[in-house]
Amino acid sequence: MILTFHGGAKIVTGANYLLAHGDKKILVDCGLFQGSRYAEELNYEKFAFNPAEIDFVFVTHSHTDHSGRLPKLYKEGFRGRIIATRPTLDMIKTALPDNLTLIKEEAAKDGHEPLFTADDLAEVLKLAEGFNYEEEIKLGNGLTARLLDAGHILGSSIVEISFGDKKIYFSGDLGNPPTPLLKPTVFVKNADYAIVESAYGARIHEDKRERKEILEKVIEETITNGGTLMVPSFAMERTQELLYELNELINHNRIPRVPIFVDSPLAINLTEVYKKYPDYFNKTAAYLINSGDDIFNFPGLKFTRTVNESKTINDIVGPKVIIAGSGMSNGGRILHHEQRYLPDPKSTILFIGYQVEGTLGRKILDGQKEVSIFGQMVPVNCQVKAIGGYSAHADQNMLTEWIKSAAVGGKLKNVFIVQGEEDSARALADRIKKELGVNSTVPDIGASFDLEAGIG
Ligand SMILES: [Zn+2]
Repeated sequence: MILTFHGGAKIVTGANYLLAHGDKKILVDCGLFQGSRYAEELNYEKFAFNPAEIDFVFVTHSHTDHSGRLPKLYKEGFRGRIIATRPTLDMIKTALPDNLTLIKEEAAKDGHEPLFTADDLAEVLKLAEGFNYEEEIKLGNGLTARLLDAGHILGSSIVEISFGDKKIYFSGDLGNPPTPLLKPTVFVKNADYAIVESAYGARIHEDKRERKEILEKVIEETITNGGTLMVPSFAMERTQELLYELNELINHNRIPRVPIFVDSPLAINLTEVYKKYPDYFNKTAAYLINSGDDIFNFPGLKFTRTVNESKTINDIVGPKVIIAGSGMSNGGRILHHEQRYLPDPKSTILFIGYQVEGTLGRKILDGQKEVSIFGQMVPVNCQVKAIGGYSAHADQNMLTEWIKSAAVGGKLKNVFIVQGEEDSARALADRIKKELGVNSTVPDIGASFDLEAGIG
């Protein structure tokens, strides 16, 4: 059994792992390499394997760095089966087409053919089959698989590949439980090998128990000041978590009723997908739904889908809350609101996600007094606030606990540490060696490992 790392090695994005056993070829994830651009140069290279020979692609979750090269795989000859949970497939169908224009524009700028077309996207999605968590999936040659709840975003999975009593686990992205909506991350046991993410392999998250209280306080202060609260938010998971918490605050009369806008067509469409899958939510969220509460809707909430609806937000006088993309203010409708309200000392901008170096969000968060939006210099006079603890990723402590559990049974031969910058991956590798005595490898892109000795 040969495992090759075609992406996600010493880098957070581009997850793409090939497991070959006899004539069976299984891919886990097919993500875009992403940095400051939507699609980095590396994406334009041909796959290092023949996509026509791939039998199965497991997609751990719908984030673009795990699913974004699926249409390219089709374009280069893949006609096998795609396996993922149903919400993952629905979310890919909702989110990927949203980026086709961007993909075309970026490619044209660099003199490339677009990575894929709308047709490639439509055709590859026809190869997809939705499975439930824990359901057994037969792959042939004595191989079976299961998807287990990763607790990272709706529908996210850990992939378990079994051969006899041997087990290999691909972690996908692991969650940061407890979360408002999702069930806790499954801790696997009796692993022979594990391929584990390390996006936060060198970091320990802030305590997140207080985040709802901070959110409440920021809203109250902004309302008292008579200003507008801007929340740049990622459309997937972050916005739905925020709506859930706002719903709770409103239901318990913890914040005054003011207009709250979700000003992002993608976030609105994804919220519709979330509503389809109440079975994937945790007990508390499920209880609220069963008791008749629409957890993504409350008095004062308005979804502004069209551009004209979005523009009417400006006409609302008095305090209001605007949730809009993009999460790092490097595009999207939030820019229009920032242009208008950043100069207003009564208003507040609240960051709830990590802001990458170089993005507009990072500049504002770092305290720049003036920023450029649509080619105009805009003074930042508003309050700038941030809440940590909204990360959807496991930190070093959680990753170590997860690997410790995988090692139960005493069979774990090696952990391949992926989906993190090299420093993060090495930090995790050092900790699990020291604390658990577990062997690990931080693979290079293109590196292959023969698991036969342990598996055959
Ligand atoms: Zn992810």
